[in-house]
Amino acid sequence: MSTGPASSASVTLSTPVQFLKGVGPRNAELLAKLELFTAADCLFNFPRDYQDLTDLKSVAELEADKLVRLRGTVVEIEQRGGYTGRSMLGVLIQCGEGAAADYVRCLWFNMPHMRKQFENGRQFLITGKAKKKGGRWEFSHPRAQRLEQEPADAELKILPVYSLTEGLYQPTVRKAVQAALEGCLDQLDEVFPPEFLAAHNLAPLREALQQIHFPADREQLEKARRRFVYQELFILQLALAVRRLRLQVDGSAPQLEPTAKIDARIRRLLPFELTAGQEQAIKEIGGDLARHFPMNRLLQGEVGSGKTIVAVYAVLVAVAHGRQAAIMAPTEVLARQHARTLGKLLSESRVKWTTLVGGLSQSERRAVLEQIRSGEIDVVIGTQAILQEDVEFARLGLVVVDEQHKFGVRQRAKLRGAGEAPHYLVMTATPIPRSVSMTMFGDLDISTIRDAPPGRMPVKTYLADDTQRDRWWEFVRKKLREGRQGYVIAPLVEGSDDPDDERASVMRTFEQLANGPLEAFRLGLLHGRMSNEEKEAAMAEFAAGKTQILVATTVVEVGVDVPNAVLMTIEGGERFGLSQLHQLRGRIVRGNHPGFCTVFAKSGTAEGLKRLEAFVASNDGFELAEVDFHIRGPGDLLGTKQHGLPPLRIADLVRDEAVVAEARADALALVQEDAGLAKPEHQRLRKQMLKRYGAVLELGDVG
Ligand code: ADP
Ligand code: MG
Repeated sequence: MSTGPASSASVTLSTPVQFLKGVGPRNAELLAKLELFTAADCLFNFPRDYQDLTDLKSVAELEADKLVRLRGTVVEIEQRGGYTGRSMLGVLIQCGEGAAADYVRCLWFNMPHMRKQFENGRQFLITGKAKKKGGRWEFSHPRAQRLEQEPADAELKILPVYSLTEGLYQPTVRKAVQAALEGCLDQLDEVFPPEFLAAHNLAPLREALQQIHFPADREQLEKARRRFVYQELFILQLALAVRRLRLQVDGSAPQLEPTAKIDARIRRLLPFELTAGQEQAIKEIGGDLARHFPMNRLLQGEVGSGKTIVAVYAVLVAVAHGRQAAIMAPTEVLARQHARTLGKLLSESRVKWTTLVGGLSQSERRAVLEQIRSGEIDVVIGTQAILQEDVEFARLGLVVVDEQHKFGVRQRAKLRGAGEAPHYLVMTATPIPRSVSMTMFGDLDISTIRDAPPGRMPVKTYLADDTQRDRWWEFVRKKLREGRQGYVIAPLVEGSDDPDDERASVMRTFEQLANGPLEAFRLGLLHGRMSNEEKEAAMAEFAAGKTQILVATTVVEVGVDVPNAVLMTIEGGERFGLSQLHQLRGRIVRGNHPGFCTVFAKSGTAEGLKRLEAFVASNDGFELAEVDFHIRGPGDLLGTKQHGLPPLRIADLVRDEAVVAEARADALALVQEDAGLAKPEHQRLRKQMLKRYGAVLELGDVG
């Protein structure tokens, strides 16, 4: 057997990369670090970026403030200042050779880490806007991409850029991909049926693969990208649709119909008329509960939209049918608050409920567990500890998970035991951008409450700096004297030597207020380092009006409900995400007095400022979520750990929002038509879906 490079005639999809032309054993080891073992791996290792060498400008063609690309060689590097404090990096780039040589300067301020990518003699592609300074064109903070172009790719106009590892270079990866394309592109089979490609405007696989690696032009690249983005999202949506269907077909759950009698009995307990949004949600949930397979529903609604009562309704339906229900909250503070709400509502009823949180003694806990096991207790309220193995229910019929948009697909699988599964309702006040909810919660039905309970007062929001402090505290004192209460939120518990951290610390804020502007008032303190009893006591004192101002970290963020609190002061506003800020503001829209929210923030990055300005400008959580999503990207929301799905390789939920909706609709349609993906023309789709999502989504052997 020959160990030399495989001639392209003998390359197959499973040929080890080592035998691809231009690779060899040493590079093969490096490629292995990137999990590229075979020719097929190379084919599906999509570029992470591209370098567009079309339409390059020469120095003579530059115009002020116009976005251009040019290529050149580093000839001089100058660095001033170091890693701390101010610094400047200047790189002189030579464009053109010999007599035609011309120079431009690139400048970066306070980005000393940029230095290491530049060496004299390296080629770069510079993208940016230039200004003429002292007779020379200068780019300030341009995009600089290192060009590694060998004679072999001299005629490429758009260069693919792949992820690398130490010691591996772009030309090597390009060669491997090129060899794989030449050798086995024609051995690949299309996953989609031909009519499907045509109907959905998708480039055929082989063409798309060639173009995604070595695009002929921008347009071809876009076409190729669309195909793979669509494919990735479609396979995911297909998996979610199949999972949903399976839960319906296989899953058996108790049928808990909210009959007219049950409905009337529950409504007698409710202290107020429900809003239209609440009514709608209850109707949808009721419809789910009446079926013989488990409800899987996400209830989303703005902070303060009144989700709790909807959950309580569902809980009481389950109890009316002789079933148990569990309510899980993310924190003990919230679990206790739910317990208080439920306790008030149920004081006249025979429903037996308990809280299961930390702080119970061994014997107390054992007793509670026994009552849950025997079925004596109808409703259990707690944190996620309810999921622990030693908690056994006699006849669990419903699980409600509050404020847990992070409770992803995978965690949910945990709740389904053998035999009959409980109905499942997850609630979130964190409005989720549509493309994300269709992905993370693609296997759930969604109810949305868009209206607020009547009489809800507006909140005025202000962005302020230190010069406005005195005036704000003056206003706060006036409101406190009128009997109102308020929160002061700081992002950190303790400060550090950094003066900005110091300012953002809840401890220092408390001390300063208690000895300064608010010394005449009763202040409470609440943060994550306090014991559970201390936290509980601080919350209870505030709820009872014994303290007038609660100085806290974001422990109070979610779900805390004190209607008399109408003042919200946020320190270190630049450190909070947009939805977090909105959550905090949501703490003061609950009562019958208008709310006032002031954010003190350091003017930081442009991105931070955009976020704060958006916060001041809008009170609509869904709108803010979309803004946040577009500013920050989906990263934070879509950490793999949180939602439990494998990461997307090419699709981007911000950029490809429209494709998400399209792929979802198409996947649902396909599953309607061929539920088990049993038709011969769907076999490849089915195989891909199982390979990628079969295990995670417990799809088992579909069909
Ligand atoms: P969230 O959706 O943020 O969980 P809650 O369920 O805590 O909101 O409700 C916020 C406040 O609004 C609570 O004080 C609750 O009693 C009140 N509320 C809820 N629904 C109504 C309604 N239909 N009419 C009047 N007040 C309501
Ligand atoms: Mg709530």
